[in-house]
Amino acid sequence: MSTLLIKNATVLVTMDETQREVADGGLFARDGFIEQVGSTNELPETADDVLDLHGHLVLPGLVNTHHHFYQTLTRAIPAAQDANLFNWLKTLYPIWGRMTPEDIHLSTQTALAELALSGCTTASDHLYLFPNGSLLDDEISAAQDFGVRLQASRGSMSLGESKGGLPPDSVVDSEDNILKDSQRLIQKYHDARPGAFVQIVIAPCSPFSVSGELMKQSAKLARESRVHLHTHLAETEDEESFCKQKFGYRPVAYMESVDWVGQDVWFAHAVHINAEEVGRFAKYGCGVAHCPSSNMRLALGIAPVMDYLRAGVKVGLGVDGSASNDSSHMLAEVRQAMLLSRLREGITGFSLSDDASRKLMTAREALRLATQGGAAVLGRSDIGSLEPGKCADFFALNLERLETAGALHDPVAAAVFCQPMRADHTVVGGRFVVRDGQLVTMDEHALVEKHNRAAKRLLEG
Ligand SMILES: [Zn+2]
Repeated sequence: MSTLLIKNATVLVTMDETQREVADGGLFARDGFIEQVGSTNELPETADDVLDLHGHLVLPGLVNTHHHFYQTLTRAIPAAQDANLFNWLKTLYPIWGRMTPEDIHLSTQTALAELALSGCTTASDHLYLFPNGSLLDDEISAAQDFGVRLQASRGSMSLGESKGGLPPDSVVDSEDNILKDSQRLIQKYHDARPGAFVQIVIAPCSPFSVSGELMKQSAKLARESRVHLHTHLAETEDEESFCKQKFGYRPVAYMESVDWVGQDVWFAHAVHINAEEVGRFAKYGCGVAHCPSSNMRLALGIAPVMDYLRAGVKVGLGVDGSASNDSSHMLAEVRQAMLLSRLREGITGFSLSDDASRKLMTAREALRLATQGGAAVLGRSDIGSLEPGKCADFFALNLERLETAGALHDPVAAAVFCQPMRADHTVVGGRFVVRDGQLVTMDEHALVEKHNRAAKRLLEG
């Protein structure tokens, strides 16, 4: 039994149903779960570990709903800096094809370090190529040592160039192997209990890199095993043309045709979605991982996030792979989501003065996407808010800093409107992964050196 007491926070944001924000707040946790949240004077006076957060803002841990950790090794590659999605992929596939199991492990550490230092406590990752004997296990073991919760998505690609797909044949696998390995991973790692640190997700890469048959078989396996389904969808107009030509459907109708709709499905991007398809997402309960930086980086459009929210579609945020962001800063993504949604509303003719039923995304709404929204998208009711019974997952920002100078009348909004900050403390299940601005489980400087050596080797071949 171990207990943790957080006290004297300037503001603690619960993200509970009533959107309660507690002044001079804190929480008391036991064995990784929250027992009490409230004003400091309502909480127990001591615990095994006590942290005084005077001058800090405390927020629920951020939930990242889409990433490709391995891409931290291929950021800002010159030939992929200014390409569209399909050319970006064709440039990067051969470099990714040189990765080893050690590279998967190392890039997981780097991505999780960056995520944890920006407030993230649960990360979904989508690994869809397994070169040179790499396994999803290489990523899972790194995450287990690090201490951030992982929704490990077993990705796959089976439709190589010779079968009309986009990736080279050298990085695709047989559908039989993909399904067998997915089953092995579920049996070995999937933990359905509250407070789980590892959950497995079945995640064929995209409509243009796997067959319809693999989509159907994946859905069947996921439902038999009670795990969730994830893929990229409606990311570009090229993908829309590909789906119409190859399958005879727009992307969403194609998903319906292969049993890929329901509460257990979430799609990354969902940019090129029309009003009627927004309604279908709401009807089926499909979730969306909105990745604003990546969408801007690849110039592929603006997702209709406010339309999703008005229709009751579950929306979370994702930093996406670091070859298309090229950052894993989760709090920065919250800011991008707020700003990009405002830009879209402006482009579509919305005016603040003439339509009272519509409004701009607020800082708090953007934070809600990254907490409660992400938890709902991943199907996890044990995270996303600071309430008794939930996981003790949170982060703290010291407000006495240059970035927030002049904004302390509203520290919660400052965390989104001002320059994205580095977390001073990040706690997952009652355990510190960042303390006093430093990673707890690894040496940041040594990690960066090792990572840069690996990135250089991959690029040079
Ligand atoms: Zn992606």
